[in-house]
Amino acid sequence: MLEIVMANRAGFWKQISFTIVMHEMSIAMSIVEAVVANAQKEGAVRVSGVELLVGKLAGIEPESLKFCFSAAAKGTLAEEALLAVEEPEGVGECGECGMRFPVTFYYAECPGCRSLRINIVSGEEFLIQSITIEEEGE
Ligand SMILES: [Zn+2]
Repeated sequence: MLEIVMANRAGFWKQISFTIVMHEMSIAMSIVEAVVANAQKEGAVRVSGVELLVGKLAGIEPESLKFCFSAAAKGTLAEEALLAVEEPEGVGECGECGMRFPVTFYYAECPGCRSLRINIVSGEEFLIQSITIEEEGE
């Protein structure tokens, strides 16, 4: 009986991590696509660096993303690109008393007045900040 439960649990976690990796993989593929398109437009022969801004509330795991990025970039101009990820902390602002405080989750409570009317002011960012390219002859 115990054995069956453990087996199910292991399968469950395997499924979860697979889903997470698929999520990061599809994000990584879109990033590579955007990076390569922009690099080609600028006449690049190689992309040497990519800087991302991924807020801690964006729901993206940076380590998985880096792993998926190198897989997705294989055979493209960005194959040897170094991926740097900046992770802004989550900051919430109370809609009642205006207090600002760090948040690690969307459904935060104001530490000042216990209000649940919280606006997220930072931490949801997800964008490509810069791309470093090399042009022909470099
Ligand atoms: Zn408050």
